[in-house]
Amino acid sequence: MAKYSLKGRIVFITGASAGIGAACARAFAAEGARLLLAARRVERLEATAAGLREAGAAAVHAFKLDVQDRGAVEEAIAGLPAEWREIDVLVNNAGLSRGLEKLWEGKPQDWEEMIDTNVKGVLWVTRAVVAGMVARGRGHVVNLGSTAQELAYPGGAVYCGSKAAVKLINDGLREDLLGTPLRVSDIGAGMVETEFSDVRFRGDKERAAKVYQDITPLTPDDIADAIVWATTRPAHVNVAHMIMTTIDQANSLMFNRRTS
Ligand code: NAP
Repeated sequence: MAKYSLKGRIVFITGASAGIGAACARAFAAEGARLLLAARRVERLEATAAGLREAGAAAVHAFKLDVQDRGAVEEAIAGLPAEWREIDVLVNNAGLSRGLEKLWEGKPQDWEEMIDTNVKGVLWVTRAVVAGMVARGRGHVVNLGSTAQELAYPGGAVYCGSKAAVKLINDGLREDLLGTPLRVSDIGAGMVETEFSDVRFRGDKERAAKVYQDITPLTPDDIADAIVWATTRPAHVNVAHMIMTTIDQANSLMFNRRTS
């Protein structure tokens, strides 16, 4: 069966201003897709648009969006220019972690931000986009999973819980879509070197760098490659769940740190 071509297809990536989302934009550009990019730091998206067109993107449309804001999500999706409304692939990538405290010492506002972004944000965007996909009889939703959704690590209870929720939302959506041609994939990663730890530790670069010390982490391009692979399988193939780690990681808790 033929590979599913993304040429000219609309790929909507949330959180495309950094890390895995930005790498996805580059990887889907190389497939000739039309890129619909969202993040709060819209100026970063705008700065990459010309390069993405040069890299093969058929077109680029960037807009500012905070996925935590249900009203803003609904308005932004409903208000897309007509030529950008028929989204073929949604990559629910926007997400973050905050803090690494023991549960009873964690900050409630950090928990709210993680749950509002990683869980509710995924729900708001999915709800706003999938109805159109069902009506058109085509579409693919990719959710960003994690080793954290399979095994919690100390200090990460709320982040891990948010990613576990994404896994089951992903699976439930696939059940709801059974009987349609739509596809739903949870593509998860272990440690990927991005701004993720910098955000978790609120700009403490030294602490963030230690997370990746003495291992070879995954790169954002590794995950983007897997996402493009999943979305280009023949139309009858649904990659339900995938977890990738660096060779130096076995799961959320076990790492091969090459300390001398
Ligand atoms: P990153 O470099 O910090 O990028 C996160 C992206 O999410 C940024 O573009 C950020 O854009 C966006 N974002 C955050 N909150 C947002 C909001 N409220 N509304 C819209 N966009 C928002 O981190 P990353 O590692 O690439 O993370 C991407 C996804 O992969 C997340 O879902 C994360 O949980 C998942 N993941 C990461 C790892 C890892 O080790 N790095 C492993 C497994 C899974 P703005 O700040 O401009 O809005």
